[in-house]
Amino acid sequence: MSQVLFLDFQPLAAIATTPAAAKRLQFLGGSGATLWVPETLGNFAGAQPYSGSLRDHLTALWPEYKGFIFCLAAGAVVRLVAPLLTHKSQDPAVVVVDEAGRFVISLCSGHQGGADRLTQLLAHQLEATPVITGATNAAELPAIDTLGLPFGWQRGEGNWNGVSGIIARQQPVQVIQEAGSTLWQHQGYPFHIQTAQREVEPISFQAKIWISPCERFSGSGSPEATQGIPARSSCGSSASSTDMPMVQWHPRVLWIGIGCERGTSQQLIESGIRQVLQSHQLAWGAIAGVATIDLKADERGLIELCRAYNWPLRCFPATVLQSVTVPNPSAIVAAAVGTPSVAEAAALQAVLEFRFEVGEESKLQNSLRVPKQVIQAAGQGAVTVAVAEAEQEWTGRTGQFGSVGSGPGHLDQMTPAAKTAVCQADAVIGYGLYVDLLQPLLRVGQVVERFPITQERQRAERAIALAQWGLTVAVVSSGDCGIYGMAGLVLEQLQAQGWDGKTPGIEIFPGITALQATASRVGTPLMHDFCDISLSTLLNPWPVIEKRLEAAAEADFVAALYNPRSLTRLEQLVKAQEIFLRSRPPGTPVAIVRSAYRPDEQATLTTLEQLQDATVDMLTTVLIGNSSTRTYAGWMITPRGYFQSDDTE
Ligand code: SAH
Repeated sequence: MSQVLFLDFQPLAAIATTPAAAKRLQFLGGSGATLWVPETLGNFAGAQPYSGSLRDHLTALWPEYKGFIFCLAAGAVVRLVAPLLTHKSQDPAVVVVDEAGRFVISLCSGHQGGADRLTQLLAHQLEATPVITGATNAAELPAIDTLGLPFGWQRGEGNWNGVSGIIARQQPVQVIQEAGSTLWQHQGYPFHIQTAQREVEPISFQAKIWISPCERFSGSGSPEATQGIPARSSCGSSASSTDMPMVQWHPRVLWIGIGCERGTSQQLIESGIRQVLQSHQLAWGAIAGVATIDLKADERGLIELCRAYNWPLRCFPATVLQSVTVPNPSAIVAAAVGTPSVAEAAALQAVLEFRFEVGEESKLQNSLRVPKQVIQAAGQGAVTVAVAEAEQEWTGRTGQFGSVGSGPGHLDQMTPAAKTAVCQADAVIGYGLYVDLLQPLLRVGQVVERFPITQERQRAERAIALAQWGLTVAVVSSGDCGIYGMAGLVLEQLQAQGWDGKTPGIEIFPGITALQATASRVGTPLMHDFCDISLSTLLNPWPVIEKRLEAAAEADFVAALYNPRSLTRLEQLVKAQEIFLRSRPPGTPVAIVRSAYRPDEQATLTTLEQLQDATVDMLTTVLIGNSSTRTYAGWMITPRGYFQSDDTE
């Protein structure tokens, strides 16, 4: 089973109370889920038994898991989970699968808990119908409370229900983006987006979404709470008095530079940061991480604070920090630690080092947002805080690759696991034509990047950059991604970058390759030993191709020829024919299959001698039989064994 498909939902619990239900959910064990069954069911492979009532057991499990998948009557699940639910911002995803595996129901925490997404993934995996009842889902509208999750943005204060309601009613919504990735802007959201570069038409908006490192308003973002909030100077003009619901997302762009005396408490450092952010109207949720000098790498208060908020702690040597230009250098600090600035220099250095080339515009105006401030508390030490703002947000996520084989060209011919990998990805990258074939699997809010056919290296580089930044990326190839596909390019480039083999993680989702697809259309030409040779001189020099053709012909392999002929490359197929005619009879059956499983499919049976009469282009695979291959009633048959015995599978 796939290791990466359900990663976003770990730890994940599956619950079944009958043998049939346990069997239905058993596959999840391989994806890291824990399958719980009552001990009365006896030993069930891969399952954990529980004793006592399911109600008590569930109460114990509830805080431990991010998602629950029940194979149980929906009504029973409603009764079981009802007493445990608190708020949609905290509850786990609750999903129900029927015993026959026909339906997957998103029952609770559809948006923030991710139940809608988990439902879609499971439905692909089980080939079941997803049952998702949220209003935004019906209209294929985005869920505003999940928009920033791929980029690690934090939800700030606001009237999330109010804004969601306006979106569901399809009324005009204004977005003001002041920081963070703009990749989400191209994914079909029906918003009026205003950025530093772009003004929007002043129409009567019904809701407002801020994407900003600033606290744009306080309170619940409802009319009462936002009336008369004063403008905030350092964060530019803020939400003025308004009668519309508002929410705010905070991209994690703020790096906090810290200098402190030895032994400064976690509380003092935290309250120092809070004070500085508050006085500059900056949002706590916008913190990317903390930076300091390497002498502080073992400073307990700092380490504990970073652990508590899951922030990276970046420590730089004095030699690096002293080369950073800062507004407030200090001779005293220089004498003590060998660099005239710790807080300001470390914050700026963090911004510089943790940059990923993934944005559209990379203007890199990284700057000190707040110069150093010293906060002291009697008897507790002192802490210096500076804040730098990065052009790019820290996602706080570990990226994943799915290299996906999409099969010959029809969704029916794609594996459920490959479909699930495309559906779950934050970003889908591939040659435009293939990505378009996957349209039914794509969802609003996914970053979808279509490339021209030739730019394979660029595709791989882009996918690697996005995954290193923290996104889950699906790189799509037609057929099988490991046969003249993108998986090889991605691995090669990762190797060239000194990848450790684990981060970002990679999983390869195989697909039906062209030779299988084309063979199936004409019979069983590949029933015995065969080989696959690409005639493209872009991939291989001609002498190598020629040698392989000769060897295959001589050894009586059935041969599948990929990339047989392009508009400019006409000679190779003629030469291949000559080579095969040297060791095989002119009447050897040959199949020429173009665009297998696509609407314009053509399949022709011919012979080695007449091969050139058929139309052959780059969408075609040529299958040349061996010396035993024959045709019968319009089908191509390669016998299963030369000796015609029954001793093989
Ligand atoms: N990764 C792909 C192969 C890419 S090379 C796979 O595993 O199928 C591209 C070549 O594959 C084409 O030039 C053609 O020879 C063959 N091909 C791909 N899709 C095909 C299809 N649907 N029908 C016939 N040939 C196909």
